[in-house]
Amino acid sequence: MARSVVVTGSTSGIGLGIARAFAAEGANVIINGFGKAEEIEAARAELDSLSTGRVLYHGADMTKPDQIADLIATAAREFGTVDVLVNNAGIQHVSKIEDFPVEKWDQLIAILLSSAFHTMRNTIPLMKKAGKGRIINVASAHGLVASPFKSAYVAAKHGVLGLTKTAALELAETGITVNAICPGYVLTPLVERQIPDTARERGISEEAVKTDVMLRLQATKEFVSIEEVAATALFLASDAARQITGTHISIDGGWTAQ
Ligand code: NAD
Repeated sequence: MARSVVVTGSTSGIGLGIARAFAAEGANVIINGFGKAEEIEAARAELDSLSTGRVLYHGADMTKPDQIADLIATAAREFGTVDVLVNNAGIQHVSKIEDFPVEKWDQLIAILLSSAFHTMRNTIPLMKKAGKGRIINVASAHGLVASPFKSAYVAAKHGVLGLTKTAALELAETGITVNAICPGYVLTPLVERQIPDTARERGISEEAVKTDVMLRLQATKEFVSIEEVAATALFLASDAARQITGTHISIDGGWTAQ
């Protein structure tokens, strides 16, 4: 039977790439996220045509616990259970701590950290009933190390790694694994959008943000690709990864080796 996969924040970037990779394997997938209705429908239809299963869209806002509960309930109703949960939705805000808007702090923590708690608390009972499951949290190199002007993001991503380890221990004897992926810089809309703000905060050009800030610590001097992150998610969801739990896989071109 086709696996049932939920990927939060999958109308764009890394999440869409992960959803596409699971669809190409024949999974039933729920994509989620914001965007123009016609673009979301085009993405859903493309993934649906790749899969021998079904691809649906759910518009849950990851800051709203009741909508997150409905996302997971929809997967259970439509596909019977959730075999693979990928917590991926994210936004960024670049600013000094003393200037950081309080509502932005709250929004980043809600989307990047609390939403993973809410998807997990709704999904774990389904996975326990099935006696198996894979939870994959898209964290970041910023879950392991910091950069200035990204306080909420770095704090939330470090929190995601703590949540990953705690859940893995709680679920260790249930057949459910919980892991994180820690990508370095991937050129997605999220990264493109922060280039002007980073240029302003550091007083440098936008081109210099790419070469001197983003790729400075990425030892390979290359951006990570969406497909590389998606392949790592497929691996963590595979039988071969059965004994991998409570840890992270870095895919950061050597950034955190330094
Ligand atoms: P992106 O902007 O391309 O995609 C983000 C997705 O999250 C979109 O589908 C968006 O609609 C969705 N989203 C935003 N707010 C939401 C909300 N309130 N509710 C539901 N969905 C919401 O960004 P991306 O670069 O693909 O980022 C995906 C994940 O990867 C994030 O968690 C990000 O922190 C992480 N990440 C990205 C990079 C990178 O360099 N791009 C590096 C490491 C980690």
